[in-house]
Amino acid sequence: MSVYQHDVIVVGAGLAGMRATIAAQSRGANVAMISKVHPVRSHSNAAQGGINAALTSRGDSWEDHALATVKGSDYLADQDAVEVMCQEAGAALIELEHMGVIFSRDEDGRLGTRRFGGQEQARTFFVADITGAAMLHVLYEQIMHSKVRVYEEWFVTSLVMEDGECRGVVAIELMTGQLHLIKAKAVILATGGSGRVYEPTTNGMVVTADGHALAYRAGAAIMDMEMVQYHPTTLKGNGVLITEAARGEGAYLLNSDGDRFMQKYAPHMMELASRDVVSRSEQTEINEGRGVDGCVFLDLRHLGRELIETKLSYIQEVAGDFANVDLSKQPIPIRPGNHYIMGGIKTDVHGATSIPGLYAAGECACVSVHGANRLGANSLLDTIIFGRRAGEAAAARATEVGDKPVPESVLSVDKEAIRSFLSRKPNKDMAAKIRLEMGETMNEHVAVFRNEAGMQTALQTIRQLRERYAELAVQDKGQVFNTNLLFTLELGFMLDTAEIICASALARKESRGAHFRTDIPQRDDANWLKHTLAYFTQAGPRIDYAPVTITRWQPQVRSY
Ligand SMILES: Cc1cc2nc3c(=O)[nH]c(=O)nc-3n(C[C@H](O)[C@H](O)[C@H](O)COP(=O)(O)OP(=O)(O)OC[C@H]3O[C@@H](n4cnc5c(N)ncnc54)[C@H](O)[C@@H]3O)c2cc1C
Repeated sequence: MSVYQHDVIVVGAGLAGMRATIAAQSRGANVAMISKVHPVRSHSNAAQGGINAALTSRGDSWEDHALATVKGSDYLADQDAVEVMCQEAGAALIELEHMGVIFSRDEDGRLGTRRFGGQEQARTFFVADITGAAMLHVLYEQIMHSKVRVYEEWFVTSLVMEDGECRGVVAIELMTGQLHLIKAKAVILATGGSGRVYEPTTNGMVVTADGHALAYRAGAAIMDMEMVQYHPTTLKGNGVLITEAARGEGAYLLNSDGDRFMQKYAPHMMELASRDVVSRSEQTEINEGRGVDGCVFLDLRHLGRELIETKLSYIQEVAGDFANVDLSKQPIPIRPGNHYIMGGIKTDVHGATSIPGLYAAGECACVSVHGANRLGANSLLDTIIFGRRAGEAAAARATEVGDKPVPESVLSVDKEAIRSFLSRKPNKDMAAKIRLEMGETMNEHVAVFRNEAGMQTALQTIRQLRERYAELAVQDKGQVFNTNLLFTLELGFMLDTAEIICASALARKESRGAHFRTDIPQRDDANWLKHTLAYFTQAGPRIDYAPVTITRWQPQVRSY
């Protein structure tokens, strides 16, 4: 075991983590970044469609972007946070350009835009359909120029808590299997989403809600976890994403009769209504028998081969490889699939959580700018804006607090947990079985449509799975790159998170945004215009509430 020390430690090397790292370093902090995978394998790399920003030089206004975001959120977003994000978006976009992100251009050579759902304006900037990869590689270059230490392929197992504040992390160095203590004056969690709690999902295999569970176990408030986004266009079976950019470029949604059914549900915005609305419409068509084999169709034929090849070449590749479809010749079967979590670790607009010394940014955080439903292309923006802000705030804290002691005994709990997984004789339960049952249960009962009985079933199932998990044995007893052990620890994080999602969803007795209850189909502002908070207790999450910040946009009836 070794002990390391930094001013700021950033857990996560996706867009939020990298942006936070660069910001903390530019403020003079001794900062280190830690990632369980090679940095550019973070899920941000998979983002396709783009990043939103209202550029005033285009006649766009941040207020219009903010209003679309608030309406998209079904009025659950905190409007002060939305204002910060939308106001700072333009400068952040130009800064990315100056760092070297080669955004796609229009015919006049200016930065190109496409229209994304829930917005009237075309304000989504993009690099073909590989926007996330382009951004992530440019930020990684900046990190490589700097003197930042990167703990690559290290896995954080817990946060170090002393006297009610966070003083570092405990992590396994995967190459050796050694457990280490990394002390810090501030810790930023930028661990991404929780997609793999569901099966299938558009999210990568590494998106396992680690940060949500680490913060929860340490006592932080976890907010609005019932708000899970189903993306309208994913492939059946494997859940692979077909970007919203396809509809942004003009693709249609068709049912089995060949009708553009969105006419019925969102006559004004059609296919570009907000995601919760489009996913519910598709699921209704499927449930009422106007789908084919559990799917409806996305039709790009009228866009023509040239547009598809220049602006949507990656999804043409995906469609060919996974569905054997040539998008210029045939519609592709798609359906709603798990994609994103609006909820997360509660933070203020500086990334501060309810625990001193602990910050969060990116998909694992809940500022909250997405409320009950996120607009497409607002997540990349969220990572860049609040990643930077968290990095700056953490660096500022590091100048204020002195070195505080951490006993090395903090390693003993994790050491013991790992030892017991490794020492048990292999039994019939394997992590993979529990993981699949968890994912399928969540996808069946806590999905586009929900009801009390289904959510109760899911909660009970997750609790039973946790009991089986406690007895689990890790088969591979080795030290070097023990991915079997890693998979097991990730499963523990996911089971905690699944339980929080179920408990939060059961608590909210209304329908709002992505949380649509067939047994209570109305939004109820009088009683439920509030955030759900979940806190750790031994008996399961304790639920509490917090007010929503409304600055200038009063809740309205939402139609598209
Ligand atoms: C297929 C797909 C397409 C998308 N397209 C778009 C889009 O076009 N526009 C948009 O706005 N949004 C999009 N999104 C959403 C957006 O990409 C994500 O919300 C965002 O990139 C998350 O970034 P992040 O930095 O928070 O986390 P991530 O990029 O997921 O990074 C998480 C990091 O945390 C590290 N980590 C996690 N746990 C641990 C641990 N225990 N120990 C050490 N390290 C750990 C990982 O190694 C990784 O480096 C898309 C998402 C998907 C899945």
